Amino acid sequence: MPPPQLQSATANAADSINLNSTAIIMTDVEKELRISRPIIEVIRLTRTIETPTHRVEILRGIDLSIPKGQFAAIMGPSGSGKSTLLGLLAGLDNATDGQILLDGEDITGLSEDRMAEVRGRKIGFVFQSFQLIPTLTAEENVLLPAELAGAGPEATRRARELLTRVGLEDRLDHYPIQLSGGEQQRVALARAFITKPPILYADEPTGNLDGRTGQQVLDLLLELNRVEGATLVLVTHDPALAAHADRVITLRDGLVVSDVLNRAEVSCGN
Ligand code: ADP
Ligand code: MG
Repeated sequence: MPPPQLQSATANAADSINLNSTAIIMTDVEKELRISRPIIEVIRLTRTIETPTHRVEILRGIDLSIPKGQFAAIMGPSGSGKSTLLGLLAGLDNATDGQILLDGEDITGLSEDRMAEVRGRKIGFVFQSFQLIPTLTAEENVLLPAELAGAGPEATRRARELLTRVGLEDRLDHYPIQLSGGEQQRVALARAFITKPPILYADEPTGNLDGRTGQQVLDLLLELNRVEGATLVLVTHDPALAAHADRVITLRDGLVVSDVLNRAEVSCGN
């Protein structure tokens, strides 16, 4: 006689999956996380910089697997390699060794053009220093990635919709210099999400903002993660911010020294 939970599973065979020949009943969340391959896979990633006088091993062999829809916070002391890791995950920098797969696609060794194309489809990036283009208005900054990806007039509607969503509907024509730090970061968030990327990277996005403004930016990031389903990888120093994450990965000296799930119901897919 199979145990009761397996009897109920046979009533809906599609809801069970064979793992190591044991029938396991999965919730929808678990199914999504386990059956789909991780959206980000990092295998023995290293980044070394050679200068004329010495060699700096910034990342010394990172393995990570981040399932679709997860909010992962990356913490660790200054200089531990957090920004380098995020830059590599976004294809903004080249690995010395190892592999990075986004949605199963190996991005290590792609040409600049191919990488730009992958970034356009898959990645939104928010920097600590906003990095808006000073000669473009808020709306033009938000539109830029969509235009680079060849979007049509539809993109203008979406840019305005996103700017409204971040509370800047009356700032469309403002230039970055005419906006506060919090407003600039909200423009940067709208820009990062204009192409609806499945992955959002944010490197200390609230680091230059006061507490209240930082909270607004965090709330918007959380909304993109929870409502839009974007996978969110957020570098932060702030434990209060990391407390919102599904998972906290800590780096030290270029290695992962701890990897903890904040919520029991979310599998880290390893
Ligand atoms: P974090 O974001 O955790 O503060 P980073 O990834 O910015 O750390 O840097 C990790 C280490 O690598 C630091 O010691 C930094 O000085 C060094 N580093 C980063 N980029 C370079 C570079 N281009 N040349 C030399 N050293 C670098
Ligand atoms: Mg950094």
